[in-house]
Amino acid sequence: MKQFKKIESILYVEDENTVREELAEFLEDFCEVLYIAGDGVEGLKLFNTHQPKIVVTDIKMPKMDGITLSKEIFKINQESHIIFTTAFTDMKYLQDAIEIHADGYVVKPVDLSLLESMLKKVIRIESLQHELEKKKQYELKKKAELETILATTLDGIAILDLNANFAYANNALENLLGYSLKILKQKSAIDLTIKEDQEGLKKVIQEVINEKNIKHSQITLLSKDNKKIILSLSLALMPDKNRVLLSTKDITQEIHSHKKIIEYINIIDENIITSSTDLDGVITYASEAFCKISGYTKDELIGKKHNIVRNPNVEEALYEELWDTISQDKVWMGEIQNRDKNKVDYWVFVKIYPAFDEDGKKIGYTSIRHDITNLKKVEELSIVDGLTKAYNRHYYNQIIQKYIQSAKRNEELIAFAIFDIDYFKQYNDTYGHQKGDHALQAVVKSMQEELGRADDYLFRLGGEEFGVLFKPSSAEKSITFIKQLINKVESLKIEHKKNTISSYVTISAGLICEKATLIDDNEILYKKVDDLLYKAKHQGRNQVASNLVGD
Ligand code: GH3
Ligand code: MG
Ligand code: MG
Repeated sequence: MKQFKKIESILYVEDENTVREELAEFLEDFCEVLYIAGDGVEGLKLFNTHQPKIVVTDIKMPKMDGITLSKEIFKINQESHIIFTTAFTDMKYLQDAIEIHADGYVVKPVDLSLLESMLKKVIRIESLQHELEKKKQYELKKKAELETILATTLDGIAILDLNANFAYANNALENLLGYSLKILKQKSAIDLTIKEDQEGLKKVIQEVINEKNIKHSQITLLSKDNKKIILSLSLALMPDKNRVLLSTKDITQEIHSHKKIIEYINIIDENIITSSTDLDGVITYASEAFCKISGYTKDELIGKKHNIVRNPNVEEALYEELWDTISQDKVWMGEIQNRDKNKVDYWVFVKIYPAFDEDGKKIGYTSIRHDITNLKKVEELSIVDGLTKAYNRHYYNQIIQKYIQSAKRNEELIAFAIFDIDYFKQYNDTYGHQKGDHALQAVVKSMQEELGRADDYLFRLGGEEFGVLFKPSSAEKSITFIKQLINKVESLKIEHKKNTISSYVTISAGLICEKATLIDDNEILYKKVDDLLYKAKHQGRNQVASNLVGD
């Protein structure tokens, strides 16, 4: 027997025992499970419970005949297959069987090969139907999935006919445009597009139709409430080649933000002296304002290092400190004197920030500068330091010679001390440059309070270095006074965790107290005091080193 797939189950209804036993054995070869009933009522019950696809039934039976049973079965499942076996050749039964669309009719004694071919035919139909059903279910599932995707995606999706009329639009597009699908179906995508973009849209649709590949475009549509919506489009020809799929993304916000950013960038470019460099300090961007102040063009700056504007007056140490700070990912700020293309000096206040990429990896540095040239000119004319209000270095240079001369005439003692804050670099690193400035102001203020006499001078000689010039009545008094200043600063209790000799900000000093007549050169004096300051630092800080006995 040719191999074929058995059907799941068959119901066999027959009241004659011998026939039933014989045929049951035969039927078992065609199914996984065979249900057997002795009459119509029992048969119907089994059918109800198991819903077999095929029923083989006798016609004349007690309680319920085969025809009635079949009618009942068809009521339950129209797709059932029924084959009658009967001893009656009566035309009446045949007619009934035809009327109820039975699949076959075999006269008893049953011709098994006839029954076999009938069963096989029915089983084949049944399995074809089964396949068809499976396919239908699969397609329904796919359709449902597609509908879910279309309904939930945030992107607007539409199907247009070849004249750009809407045939379909998903929820997102309905919401975006403010029109229901019903209304959209009466419109064309061209109607909704702003005038300037209409030709472009027509053209791209035509290209999709002609070239049959996916195209991308950007158009502005008008929504129901007349709002302009900028869409990025992907267009493709549908498989039937009679419609165009339109997949859209609302980029209105994106475009507006982008425009704003460009505006800001232009404003920054024009007005802010800014530049970016890679990790080696090679310039990768320079603003227009930077070009203006430096005299160089963007092309001349990009690819070069900032030493293109370096001023020989600026000490190497400043750059070392700068690089030391920024290579630790900290912000460096300070005043720098630069020199432009025409060799004219200018001053800037610079802040240099490390720059990172999206992954947080450092890629270079960005600097922002303010032109402080005019401020510096004013400062040069002035005699006080802007930050601390102590006299500035410039003023020290102006008066020192005269001070010594007048003391010489009066045969007075001169004391000159240089103070330097201990571990101040660490202080800045710990608390920030701004706190550093405040500490400088506090230190100066506390020292000023002790310097009341007409011949007392306090200078800010450098960043965190101060000079005190006075005329003591004795050498001992001078040293006591300087110690007093040192103690006073510590007693301000300005926290300084990184200071190794105290928990607070402290200062060290170098001091020379001498008869004015013995001083020839103020520069030598300065150098000697500076050396003593170095000694005080070396000896442990928060102390004074002087030229007097015991030191
Ligand atoms: P030492 O005890 O040896 O003096 O250590 P130090 O860290 O103080 O050493 P150094 O003199 O090299 O460092 C001085 C630091 O003072 C460097 C600089 O960051 C800081 N500084 C200089 N001028 C200013 C300023 O105007 N404001 C602030 N906040 N810091 C300044
Ligand atoms: Mg110093
Ligand atoms: Mg210091």
